[in-house]
Amino acid sequence: MTKASAYVKEIQAKIHEKDQHQPEFLQAIDEFLPTIVPFLEEHPEYIESNILALLTEPERFIQFRVPWQDDQGNWQVNRGYRIQFNSAMGPYKGGLRFHPSVNLSILKFLAFEQIFKNSLTGLPIGGGKGGSDFDPKGKSDAEVMRFCQSFMTELSKHIGPDLDVPAGDIGVGGREIGYLFGAYKRLKQYDAGILTGKPLDFWGSKNRTEATGYGAVYFVKHLLTDLGETFEGKKAIVSGSGNVAIYAIEKLQELGAIPVTCSDSSGFIYDKDGIDLALLKEIKEVKRERLTAYAKERPSAEYHEGASVWDFDTPAELAFPCATQNEIDLSQAKRAKANGVRVVSEGANMPSSLEAAEYFIEEGIFYCPGKAANAGGVAVSALEMSQNSQRLQWEKAEVDAKLDDIMKSIYEACRDTAETFDQKNNFMLGANVAGFEKVAKAMFAQGLV
Ligand code: GLU
Repeated sequence: MTKASAYVKEIQAKIHEKDQHQPEFLQAIDEFLPTIVPFLEEHPEYIESNILALLTEPERFIQFRVPWQDDQGNWQVNRGYRIQFNSAMGPYKGGLRFHPSVNLSILKFLAFEQIFKNSLTGLPIGGGKGGSDFDPKGKSDAEVMRFCQSFMTELSKHIGPDLDVPAGDIGVGGREIGYLFGAYKRLKQYDAGILTGKPLDFWGSKNRTEATGYGAVYFVKHLLTDLGETFEGKKAIVSGSGNVAIYAIEKLQELGAIPVTCSDSSGFIYDKDGIDLALLKEIKEVKRERLTAYAKERPSAEYHEGASVWDFDTPAELAFPCATQNEIDLSQAKRAKANGVRVVSEGANMPSSLEAAEYFIEEGIFYCPGKAANAGGVAVSALEMSQNSQRLQWEKAEVDAKLDDIMKSIYEACRDTAETFDQKNNFMLGANVAGFEKVAKAMFAQGLV
């Protein structure tokens, strides 16, 4: 065993011991650490300085009570969190997730991933994440507003344009960001730079809503260009029906692919004629309805209640998991391969289990990990920060061109780094090493802090 692999094993063992009740965090650690061994072998200074012990420990995390009143007058309490994981590259940056599954383990995995994702964008942002186990589903606007105001009453003490800049994630979209922004403004002062993903009327960036989905498609576009191929006529399995899925579908259609599925937590749609994007947007963005409403309107669509799209057989070359963590396990990965999937681009964070991701790589499937493929969202958030500092709002085409350039450079960093370590097409290794390299260098230069 080399010195680097012994060091990584020792760190993994310690984290497993200390954080044994945090399965998602351990999964992110176990996916990340082994892939950076070859890099550490060439950089003994990071072993000597014990950089991984620093890197895997959040700089700070804040947990707080969020009391709020429902429409019936009952007193309710949820948990609020903000993980400020790493500030070597810049202010903590990362979304807020409102979902009943939210806990410390999930937020630590998301914040840990965010460090390297943000580093890959090449923009000056550190890694953070936060949220609550509050479920906005089924709540009235007034309830969501009261919850957001209470959440921000505490969060406002810990964020700022040069300190920590939250944004959206699952369950946090324009409506929630608007309420959070208003609450911050009342408590502190008007400051456009305290949140990103803001509505366009008050200093949001054009193309931010679209950015994560578009970016996941741009990543694949650059891969296909290398292979001498295009999207034309290729079928795509897409999961999810939030921002990421909707705008991945939009960009796929624009580039000639045929997305045939989408899903929500109750089931999935298979539309043999390809997803009707206008109808999907109407149902999800305007009416905030379930996907059953889509099937009612579209004769070509089947609704599969209670089922996963990854258990469905339909021939497709592309897969865009855009729902949530661990939606694809090993047997579903095998099914995807049997259905002809050649490229998996993760719009969601860690949607493939570790076994599924390793299977994709072993089988020669182009596996584009979330921290690279879905970095477009946070990249445009960082562009929103730049626009806010400039007191300017750039045109959509300008932001989109920058997004495409960033995705190209992320794709190239993954590709080239994998090749440097004789692991051609292993974008998991490429993303992890390329993301880590810059963070480790900055941490080393900043000393033991
Ligand atoms: N929640 C998104 C992510 O997972 C975006 C975060 C941001 O824009 O700060 O990267």
